[in-house]
Amino acid sequence: MGNETSYPAQICSHFNNDEIKRLVRSFKKLDLDKSGTLTTEEFMTLPKLQQNPLVFRVIDIFDTDGNGEVDFHEFIVGASQFSVKGDEEQKLRFAFRIYDIDKDGYISNGELFQVLKMMVGDNLKDWQLQQLVDKTILVLDKDGDGKISFQEFSDVVRSLEIHKKLVLTM
Ligand code: CA
Ligand code: CA
Repeated sequence: MGNETSYPAQICSHFNNDEIKRLVRSFKKLDLDKSGTLTTEEFMTLPKLQQNPLVFRVIDIFDTDGNGEVDFHEFIVGASQFSVKGDEEQKLRFAFRIYDIDKDGYISNGELFQVLKMMVGDNLKDWQLQQLVDKTILVLDKDGDGKISFQEFSDVVRSLEIHKKLVLTM
C-alpha cells in the first residue's frame, strides 16, 4: 500500500498523515476479501452508500482505469475530490463527471435523463422527466449544440451553488 510520503503533492495537500491513515483503515475495512481493490459489492456494504442513488456513478468516477474495481490510489484520489479542502473547480468537475457517463466531455440529453432517473426513481413519469431534461438542456446550452459542456455547466451550477449540495450528499 506504499508509504504515505510517496503520494503526489496533489493528494498530500488535501489530506494530512492522520487523514491518510484513516483512509487506509476505511479502505482495509471495505476490502472484505483483502484483494487490495474494492468492488461495487464491497462499497455497497457501507449503509451511507446503499442509500445514495448515484453510488454507481461515484464508483465509476473513482475507477479511473475502468477495470471495474477501485484500488487504493484510485480511492484516495477519488476521496480527495470531495474532501472539504478540495477546491471549487474540482468539486464542479466531479459533479460534471457524475452526469457525463460516456466521458466524452459533454452531458447529452440522454445522459442527463439517465442520471436524473437514478435520482428521482419512479417519482416522475418518464415523459415528465424528459420534459424536465429538455428544459434544463435548453437553459444550460448556450452555444446550441444540444449538449452541455463543462463551461456551460459550471457557469450555471457555480452561480446556483448546487455543486456544494451535490458534494454534501455523497
Ligand atoms: Ca480500477
Ligand atoms: Ca457525455
